[in-house]
Amino acid sequence: MHSERKLALFDGHCDTLSLDGDFKPYETPFEPYAQIYAIWGGPEHDWSNRFEPLYYKYAKADKSGVQAYLSVEGAHILDCSLSRLREAALMGVRAVTLTWNNANAISGSCAEDVDRGLSSLGKKFVSECEKLSVFPDVSHLSERGFFDLCDVATKPIIATHSNSKAVHEHRRNLTDEQFKLIVQSGGVVGINLYDEFIGGNTIESLLRHFLHFLEFSGSERVLAIGTDFDGGITPPVGLEDYTKLPALYDALLQAGVTENTVSDIFYNNWYRLFN
Ligand SMILES: [Zn+2]
Repeated sequence: MHSERKLALFDGHCDTLSLDGDFKPYETPFEPYAQIYAIWGGPEHDWSNRFEPLYYKYAKADKSGVQAYLSVEGAHILDCSLSRLREAALMGVRAVTLTWNNANAISGSCAEDVDRGLSSLGKKFVSECEKLSVFPDVSHLSERGFFDLCDVATKPIIATHSNSKAVHEHRRNLTDEQFKLIVQSGGVVGINLYDEFIGGNTIESLLRHFLHFLEFSGSERVLAIGTDFDGGITPPVGLEDYTKLPALYDALLQAGVTENTVSDIFYNNWYRLFN
């Protein structure tokens, strides 16, 4: 079991901000607790009218007790536009998932136009992200798009909420080759709590993703958490919400992961990247 001191959590992805109604950060047992809040929604919405209300919901909420960061899940939300990317960066957006499940003008996704990589606009978008200190996020991206991104990226590459394809074959998961390239880039991978991506609904099945990636050298500085809470997911039994996550901390310790590495996974790896 973890010691009695407070545990720290930095969660790389949740869709809480995109739920209907008022937004208020969850109370969690973690201290500090940092959270990347995604502005998320499909391409069917008119984002010229939808982005700002969600942004103000975030900006005006009482965020005391949480270190809050903002991301955009799917460049379609920014019309795949360089000028809207610049505006979003000025508003505090720190990461942009290049595609959600829908393909867009930047790239094919893992679910649509899967053989299409980064367009020339996509390459410009990535370079502009790097200039603005916005991380390009490869969760949901096509494999072609991922490798094209690796060719143009000069800064760390992140996957805010993605698991291991070697452990569970799913289009949303990362191959070992992709993971190793993210390690080389100095980036971070947040492990997702969705049972469909895990390939099971137990804490043990989730652990397999951590333990597999931990076999790669340098991965202790790369692995992190990206819960995907409020993203329509079904999490493993025993990890239903933030109050339950200390059970994952303990399970990693019991699996033989050192406490240093577990605390890096839970907090330090995302923190180092964003600070
Ligand atoms: Zn997602």
